[in-house]
Amino acid sequence: MLTIGCHLSSSKGYLSMGKTAVSIGANTFQFFTRNPRGARAKALDPKDISAFLEYAGEHRIDKILAHAPYTLNAASAETRVREFARTAMADDLERLEHTPGNCYNFHPGSHVGQGAEAGISLIADMLNQLLKPEQATTVLLETMAGKGSEIGGKFEELREILDRVELSGHMGVCLDTCHVWDGGYDIAEHLDEVLNHFDRVVGLGRLKAIHLNDSQNPLGAHKDRHAKIGHGFIGLEAMARIINHPALKHLPFYLETPNELDGYAQEIKLLREHAR
Ligand code: FE
Ligand code: FE
Ligand code: ZN
Repeated sequence: MLTIGCHLSSSKGYLSMGKTAVSIGANTFQFFTRNPRGARAKALDPKDISAFLEYAGEHRIDKILAHAPYTLNAASAETRVREFARTAMADDLERLEHTPGNCYNFHPGSHVGQGAEAGISLIADMLNQLLKPEQATTVLLETMAGKGSEIGGKFEELREILDRVELSGHMGVCLDTCHVWDGGYDIAEHLDEVLNHFDRVVGLGRLKAIHLNDSQNPLGAHKDRHAKIGHGFIGLEAMARIINHPALKHLPFYLETPNELDGYAQEIKLLREHAR
């Protein structure tokens, strides 16, 4: 069965997200660990967590995905910004140990003119300070569109980060279909070639999640504007090939399309109809 969900607001806690997911036909979901502007995370409510874990078991909600605030930039040239990234991620990882066995996704960062090489080593430094041998959460690097000085627009950059992380067994990759398309990887016409390239450079075994988004822009635009499924340049047929691809179909898929809940419910239904 296809594991699919969408990005949900975390403001009412875990149980509420689980119930919302079930109400729209989802069997997983993604959420921000804190306000994207980087404010303090709300205190964890142990009752909410245990009620959620029970509900998730009963409703077969599998593999939820936490997303770091997108303002987090471990590759910044400013110490203060890097310090925020490290503190926020350390706190997120500690909290996520209460829902073990899931993944935590983050945008690798922007090197803001220092060069990709410098940025990559700052990102790896942060991960080396934060990862713990005993942790039960896998940290995912998200593939990016390569907008501005963003790191992660090329599979090779993700490989370089992974190579420098000592506890890299706790690391994986989340592939965002809009981002790789905008980054110049033709997943609409050449999905097999793109996945072979990913496998050679990163390794398909590292791939733990897919952000399923259409793109408002043509291949290689480096823009990062998500479109509804079937309403962008990637198209519904390509989306159907992605969710059914033998190398991908076992992965959890997360929609980050411009939708309210009813729109997400319709997309989930549409994609389930296309799942073989
Ligand atoms: Fe993201
Ligand atoms: Fe994404
Ligand atoms: Zn995006």
